[in-house]
Amino acid sequence: MIENLLKQYFGYSAFRPKQREIIQHLLDGKDALVLMPTGGGKSMCYQLPALVMKGVTIVVSPLLSLMKDQVESLLANGIEARAINSAASETENMLVRRECAQGLVKLLYISPERLLTELPFLQESVEVSMFAVDEAHCISGWGHDFRPEYTQLGVLKEMFPDVPIVALTATADKVTRTDILEQLNIPEARMFVSSFDRPNLNLDVRRGMNSKERNQAILQFMLRHKNDCGIIYCLSRKTTESVAAYLRSHQFTAAVYHAGLSVEEREKAQEDFVCDRVQIVCATIAFGMGINKSNVRFVIHYNLPKSIENFYQEIGRAGRDGLPSDTLLFYNVSDIIQLNKFAQESGQREINMERLRRMQEYAEANVCRRRILLNYFGQPYLCDCGHCDVCQHPPQRFDGTILVQKALSAIVRGNSELTLRMVVDVLCGNYSAEVRQKNLHAIKTFGVGRDVPHRDWNDYILQMLQMGYVEIQYDRYNYLRVTDAGMDVLYGRKPASLAVPQREEEPRPRRKKTAKELQRKLELTTPGAEMEQMMDEALFGALRDLRKQLAQEQNLPPYIVFSDNVLRALSTRKPGSLDEFGETPGIGEYKCRKYGAVFLEIIRKYM
Ligand code: ADP
Ligand code: ZN
Repeated sequence: MIENLLKQYFGYSAFRPKQREIIQHLLDGKDALVLMPTGGGKSMCYQLPALVMKGVTIVVSPLLSLMKDQVESLLANGIEARAINSAASETENMLVRRECAQGLVKLLYISPERLLTELPFLQESVEVSMFAVDEAHCISGWGHDFRPEYTQLGVLKEMFPDVPIVALTATADKVTRTDILEQLNIPEARMFVSSFDRPNLNLDVRRGMNSKERNQAILQFMLRHKNDCGIIYCLSRKTTESVAAYLRSHQFTAAVYHAGLSVEEREKAQEDFVCDRVQIVCATIAFGMGINKSNVRFVIHYNLPKSIENFYQEIGRAGRDGLPSDTLLFYNVSDIIQLNKFAQESGQREINMERLRRMQEYAEANVCRRRILLNYFGQPYLCDCGHCDVCQHPPQRFDGTILVQKALSAIVRGNSELTLRMVVDVLCGNYSAEVRQKNLHAIKTFGVGRDVPHRDWNDYILQMLQMGYVEIQYDRYNYLRVTDAGMDVLYGRKPASLAVPQREEEPRPRRKKTAKELQRKLELTTPGAEMEQMMDEALFGALRDLRKQLAQEQNLPPYIVFSDNVLRALSTRKPGSLDEFGETPGIGEYKCRKYGAVFLEIIRKYM
């Protein structure tokens, strides 16, 4: 029966793993904590039971933009959803209250602080079927989005002992989980942990690039994503500006988003992105929590994030529709220095340092990256994924003892008073300002590494850091220092192996497939398929234009009209009748009636 509702309202024919179990549990009136990765399909877990249960499901949500998005997409499927919040006038909120009391609403979205003031009204006049606490990690001081208003939600269980509560989050951390259950007063709640794997996300890491090289790499990347939307996360506001300017100078539309902008500027950037008016947002981590845009096709990290949790949540914003999407992480030593400083200065120094170390290990790893991520989230993954950069271009190792010795020797001879950049200058024999100022050209190792490009030296020294041959003296101008393990190599007591650095310029031998190519691979199986493929691509473009026009008319983001996934399916299946149209995964009855005719008209032209 609930499968029928899934098809009728959302157009999907099957639940994702765990969804059915969770829904049944809630329908039985029991409490639950749901852990799923971003894009895993958490909302369905309470939206579907809300349709079945008698009364109104109250959804606690921390952000206006999240509420707006969810309400719009539910309404777009013909489901009565509303929000009470500060963005609406009190007259509008009054109206929503009345509709709730009359039982006309299935889901009511509300912020935690507003919920607290509405509780007497809800208790008095509304039949509450369930409470869903979205982004539940906001309740915990251990999490990364702590919101004090969330900590008062413990009263829900006291005031409504018989109403089930479901808490949902993408933060897997054990401390946070226990905190959520305790604070919500639901110690007995069953925990549902789904797989954190997001197989449609490709993972790629490049290390040791300076900003010029990173920009070039991004440009290369964008050539494979000419029509795709994506996010570029940067550590500083300044970088968001410079990367956006660079992209604009290459004819891409790019917006900037960071906490230094006015509320209006930020809202505009977000809206432009959500509505496909700009292709790329260059943002600090301030961006993203309210973004449910399902057609984000790539996420790039211009700098290393501060933890694997942050990283995974941020890349999770790509490919919510399940289509293949690319992620790319850049990483170099100035990131480590900067992040180290943040961690040292933070309130939870030890924890944050450990989180950073784990992030660094991920970036440096030479085993399958997906295995590392899933192991991190406590979900052993026993085979290599085949679509991360390590699986696709396994690093080639060689005996690097002499190279390592050269670098270590430069550090020792420089009295452990050289930063990474100075070490590279010494090795390459560059007469830089710092070299002259510190008289480093007098060091015996000056220029002994001239035969190796400075890019590669950067990479090798990062590897040496990771292998524990050198360390950064954070308390001494970030100078490098040779460790005991490094001394063993320097004095020839132990060998050292290095991985061959990846270079952007060389075409990669087995380059990974981009989203489009993967799609094409599925389709290019018969002769004449290429022609057909071109037609499909043209149809896809036409459908996308129609979607944008319909979205504009209704003042909605295009992905709420239909996801990329639906447009892809329409462009290959080419339904000829309204029935066939309605069979397309992701098209429920309401959208079928509303949009069927106009879309069929376009599709007919491409038959
Ligand atoms: P989360 O809140 O976990 O980040 P969402 O609830 O936004 O993820 O879901 C991500 C996407 O997955 C949405 O586009 C949603 O429509 C889709 N989805 C959810 N459940 C299913 C399902 N059973 N089959 C197909 N798609 C689904
Ligand atoms: Zn892999």
